[in-house]
Amino acid sequence: MKKRILPLKTLLRACPVCLNTSEGFVLHTQSFILPEGHLLAEAKQYDIVSCCACGFVYADTPVKQKTYDKYYADMSKYEMRYSVIESARYASQAKTISTIVRDKNVSVMDVGAGNGGLLLAMKKLGYKNLTALDPSEKCVKNMLKNGIKAQTGSVFRHKVREKFDLVILSHVMEHLVDVDKALSALIAMTADKGVLYVEVPDAAMYAENHVVPFYFFDTEHINHFEEVSLINLGFRHGLRAFHLGRNQIQVSETTKYPVIHIAYKRDGAVTDWRKASGNKILKYIALSNKGSASQLVIDDLIKKNKEILIWGAGNFTMRMLNNSNLSKCDIIGFVDKDPKKHGTKILHKRVYPADHVKKISPETIIVVCAAVFSEQILKELKAMKVKNEVVVLK
Ligand SMILES: [Zn+2]
Repeated sequence: MKKRILPLKTLLRACPVCLNTSEGFVLHTQSFILPEGHLLAEAKQYDIVSCCACGFVYADTPVKQKTYDKYYADMSKYEMRYSVIESARYASQAKTISTIVRDKNVSVMDVGAGNGGLLLAMKKLGYKNLTALDPSEKCVKNMLKNGIKAQTGSVFRHKVREKFDLVILSHVMEHLVDVDKALSALIAMTADKGVLYVEVPDAAMYAENHVVPFYFFDTEHINHFEEVSLINLGFRHGLRAFHLGRNQIQVSETTKYPVIHIAYKRDGAVTDWRKASGNKILKYIALSNKGSASQLVIDDLIKKNKEILIWGAGNFTMRMLNNSNLSKCDIIGFVDKDPKKHGTKILHKRVYPADHVKKISPETIIVVCAAVFSEQILKELKAMKVKNEVVVLK
């Protein structure tokens, strides 16, 4: 197979793993049509790059950490109550952690805890000393109601002064611009003999868990960690990786999501620096570039020349509006269950709550545009006894 020569670029964002600021290889350019006034407007297009020095693959976004901090504080979708599927996922995650840190009397800190789902699952396993930090005030209130010592704050800005035996960072590090600063802050929170547990999506397994094209490249996930990069990151901070595992988490009834978890100790790194290859992410990009069958469905919608209402105002829709002819359809609006999105506008069309589907003309076609929840949306439409034609994009 002929090896493609990748273009080089001067980096906008320093490599989060090795801090290289010079150049990176451009693996892919990702674009979105974002809602009007979106806080991450600058992220409407970014390159996926591979660091020339260490091979780490990440989004070379111009958006600063400060902007992301504001975005997560204002827009948190994690405020919504978790489903049965999520509870099962937290239970399995807690079980994994309990095999790494067996002592139930340790002090635990979950940074970016959301609604505290993981800590509640750990409580069920017998852990007693549980503390949480989250930027969303609503999430903190929910956790306090559930008996978790929760404080408002982020990994960068918080009032936590004590040190913990176990510090957890679960599905947070893939969101951070300033990984280096975050890791220093986490180390400061970890007791001398303590453990730092990090869980992130496993970029080496994206291709094996293909959902829709470029599913893993969204506006929020800007770091794509593989085993080598996680070890390198710890290495540079004097952290020794003593446990590494992979898993798949269920994100909807039909979709699984690959994760990698690593546990570090503060007793000095012993690993040698290795360069990450990024080859598995290139394989995933090649697979995504093959596109999806949706193109034909969209062309058919354009031919029908009927009004459409799009159910789903998330990353999948934002990519589709940019990468396909979907925006050429006669879109009358969008529907989404996230109340934070209601009233916002995409391409000058309003985002409505779910019950809006009952208010549209019977001639309007409902287009389900969601990467992992389309089955669930179809069930809801059925339950609402909607008679409109429904088309699903995949
Ligand atoms: Zn690097």
